[in-house]
Amino acid sequence: MSAPVQLTDIRKVYGTGPSAVTALAGVTYGFEAGTFTAVMGPSGSGKSTLLHCAAGLDSPTSGDVQLSGQSLRTLDETALTELRREYVAFVFQSFNLMPALTVRQNVVLPLTLAGKSPDEAWVSEVIQRVGLGERVRHRPSELSGGQQQRVAIARALAGRTAITFADEPTGALDTVTALEVLALLRNQSRALGQTIVMVTHDPVAASYADRVVFLVDGRIVSESPHPTAENVAAELARLSAGRLSRSES
Ligand code: ADP
Repeated sequence: MSAPVQLTDIRKVYGTGPSAVTALAGVTYGFEAGTFTAVMGPSGSGKSTLLHCAAGLDSPTSGDVQLSGQSLRTLDETALTELRREYVAFVFQSFNLMPALTVRQNVVLPLTLAGKSPDEAWVSEVIQRVGLGERVRHRPSELSGGQQQRVAIARALAGRTAITFADEPTGALDTVTALEVLALLRNQSRALGQTIVMVTHDPVAASYADRVVFLVDGRIVSESPHPTAENVAAELARLSAGRLSRSES
C-alpha cells in the first residue's frame, strides 16, 4: 500500500522562458502513516511549494501526488475539494479562523462545509484536549494567539482526517506556547495515527517531529531520522554553507 502522502518525481516550474524558476526539481517521497515529518531547508528551497503541491492546493508541473492512495492528477477541482475534505486538515501560521464564529463553530466548520454532522462527543473531547474546554463560546478575538492556534489544531482533529498539513504552525507564537502546540501535534500523530507534514524553519519545532527531510534547491538532499534541535541546526548550517559555496564558485 502506498503512503498516505506519496510524491513521485514532483517538479514545479513557475513561469516560462528565461524567467522560469524551478521550485521543485524532482521530489519523490512517501510520508508514512502515523508519522510526523518536518520539512526544512533554506529560504527559497521549495518548502511551501512542496506543501502546497502535496496538499493539492497547487498542481505540480509534472509528477504525481497520491493522497490516501488516490492520484490527484486525474481529479477535477470538485473531486479534489471532496478528496481534501475527506482526508486532509490544515494548520496555518495565521490560524485562519472565522472571526464571527465561536471556538466550537470554528472547530466543526470543515465538517459543516462537507455536509457532515459532527460527532458532538468527539468535538467536545478534542476541544478539551487542546485545553479550551472553558472557551467553547468565545470568539477568536477574545483568545490569545496560542489559544487561536489550539482552535486550529482542534479543527484539524475534529474531522479525524488521515492527514494534517501544517505550514509554520508556530511562526506567530511565543516560545512556551509554541512548544505546547508542537506537543499537541506530536500527540495527534502518536495517539490518533495522523500523518502530519509540517513546514518549519525552526530546528526546535523540527525536533518534535519523528523525522526531518531537508530540501535544497527543490530537491530532498538529506533526512534526519532522530531529530534534535542541535543536529537539525547543524545540518541546516551545513546545507546553507554548501549552497553558498556553490553559488560563489
Ligand atoms: P520556501 O518555502 O522554501 O522559502 P518556496 O516554495 O516559497 O520556498 O519557493 C521556491 C522557489 O520558487 C523560490 O525561488 C521562489 O522565489 C519561487 N516561487 C515560489 N512561488 C512562486 C510564484 N508564485 N511565482 C514565481 N516563483 C515562485
